[in-house]
Amino acid sequence: MTFRVGAHVSTSGGAQKAIQRQEDVGGNCGQIFAGSPRTWKVAEYTDEEGKAFEEAAEGKNQGPYVIHSTYMVNLATPKDDLFKKSLNCLQSELDAAETLGVKYVVFHPGAHTGSGRENGIARIIEGLDSLDIPENVTLLLENTAGKGTTLGRSFGELREMLEGTEQDSIGVCIDSCHAHAAGYNLKDEDGFEDMLQELREDLGFENVKVLHLNDSKDPRGSEKDNHEHIGEGEIGVEGFKNLVNCEELRDLPMVLETPNSDEKGYAENIEKIREIRE
Ligand SMILES: [Zn+2]
Ligand SMILES: [Zn+2]
Repeated sequence: MTFRVGAHVSTSGGAQKAIQRQEDVGGNCGQIFAGSPRTWKVAEYTDEEGKAFEEAAEGKNQGPYVIHSTYMVNLATPKDDLFKKSLNCLQSELDAAETLGVKYVVFHPGAHTGSGRENGIARIIEGLDSLDIPENVTLLLENTAGKGTTLGRSFGELREMLEGTEQDSIGVCIDSCHAHAAGYNLKDEDGFEDMLQELREDLGFENVKVLHLNDSKDPRGSEKDNHEHIGEGEIGVEGFKNLVNCEELRDLPMVLETPNSDEKGYAENIEKIREIRE
């Protein structure tokens, strides 16, 4: 199986522009936003734009692609207006994925902001059930760093959401930085084995569809979500060696959301992952 690794790239100038940007950094799968991530605005793509994106990706043998939802979405909220807005936004992103031929939409489940864990999870399930997921699209819940009242920091909590909903086209995206922030140990061999066991027992490998590869600027269990270049953070090279070579996860598409700073960008980080891949 071809190793699939890529980065979150910009769609500025049109969705299909993402494909060339991906090729420029050496990726063969990837992620985009359908709109701007800190607003509610979701791009409405025409069929022509969708076709252009699909053909560009096929031509460069790139895929699968993921649409990352905006950061505004909160399905766990007790507030009706925010809940409704979140659903509309997610639905538009699912529709955009269908138009572009993008296989996955990933979102952060949200924060209960005081209504309590049980209520928050029930709200997420209610939200999931009301979405119309297009036939060729799978909706993914991403594990979170666990700050404040955010839900989905543990694999077991994600499983509760998956089991609660009646949707079939649903799964999980595991982000290495978020897992580390939530207390999972990727770095030491024993710690990593414990994490795999929890993945196996509490979530099930069959539910994991995509990995986000990000190192972390902060210590394990910090609940902080600050991405770092691969191998230069608290997860380190050993942690990524464990992750990208592990038998149960190695065939999944892996997408980087590492910083573009210190004169270092995606190209170097993708190169690093390819180096440690066995
Ligand atoms: Zn992520
Ligand atoms: Zn993050």
